Amino acid sequence: ESVVNRIAAGEIIVAPVNALKELIENSVDAGSTSIDIAVKDGGLKLLQITDNGHGIDREDLPILCERFTTSKLKAFEDLAAIGTYGFRGEALASISMIAHLTVTTKTKDSSCAWRAVYSDGKLVPPKPGQSADPKPVAGRQGTQITVEDLFYNTPSRRRAFRSGSEEYAKILDVVGRYAVHCGGVSFSCKKHGDSDVGLSTSSTANLQDRIRRVHGSAVANELIAFDTANKDLGFTAKGMLSNANYHVKKTTLLLFINGRSVESSAIKKALDAVYSTFLPKGGHPFVYLSLDIEPHRVDVNVHPTKREVNFLHEDEIIEKICTAAQDKLADVDT
Ligand code: ADP
Ligand code: MG
Repeated sequence: ESVVNRIAAGEIIVAPVNALKELIENSVDAGSTSIDIAVKDGGLKLLQITDNGHGIDREDLPILCERFTTSKLKAFEDLAAIGTYGFRGEALASISMIAHLTVTTKTKDSSCAWRAVYSDGKLVPPKPGQSADPKPVAGRQGTQITVEDLFYNTPSRRRAFRSGSEEYAKILDVVGRYAVHCGGVSFSCKKHGDSDVGLSTSSTANLQDRIRRVHGSAVANELIAFDTANKDLGFTAKGMLSNANYHVKKTTLLLFINGRSVESSAIKKALDAVYSTFLPKGGHPFVYLSLDIEPHRVDVNVHPTKREVNFLHEDEIIEKICTAAQDKLADVDT
């Protein structure tokens, strides 16, 4: 059974960045205003994320890493409303199948923090001979998740990663996406033990300043904002894209649907086409787009890693977004 679980987990988490994305989303869902990430060897040796969110109750710790354990599905109607919200209690379970997982957490009402260690979905003793029960430790409100030796029990998968720096670049990319999207949350990401921070943002920066922080002033200074919404199509969209004064070699799209970073080649293509009419000599835009769609209209069961998302009335919604972007581009004197 554990081999089957391990294979299933390996389909959800194919690289350190997949685990980290889930952990960031959990921290955001917990209402954190500060999320700090430390990484060793591209996340293969260590992925550590520390947040100041609401924490996890002591009594929930024993089942935390069982599959389908989630605090985010309280009623049956929520099944329709989960939208892009994670894969229903499988993230921590999956991570515990293929890595050493330690959770340290404190809620507001608890007098101390609790530390728990997991393997294959269950609490395990931190060291042989010790108790598997969560241990009281000193700590502040929030949760720290430590993932060590990812893929230690699937050596062929582990060996497929040649360089940690490639994985670190993917990690910085995904942290950068959430750092741009999540206003009111400070993010930092660095290599463990390094004094140099790979990326950091402040919780008080506005959207344009967060983009500046992550992507630089050249991009941030030449952005225009656009937004649109439609009741019948059940969506609202807000975004920023490059004006014709600044363009990039390849379209950069930071896309969020219902608060989750996803991919959509259809949206990317459409926005690129709009932009190119303003840049006859070629060049591509930088785009940030946050799209909120009524959850029952979003199909999340496309692929376990949930990168490409499908939704109802995709063509109509994309057309509305493109029109909004086009109108703003046309307004700008260049
Ligand atoms: P899901 O996010 O789909 O509920 P996960 O496996 O990602 O499933 O997480 C399981 C549960 O663990 C969550 O529902 C939440 O209650 C709790 N949890 C995980 N990470 C955190 C965190 N950083 N802060 C507070 N609670 C958390
Ligand atoms: Mg989750």
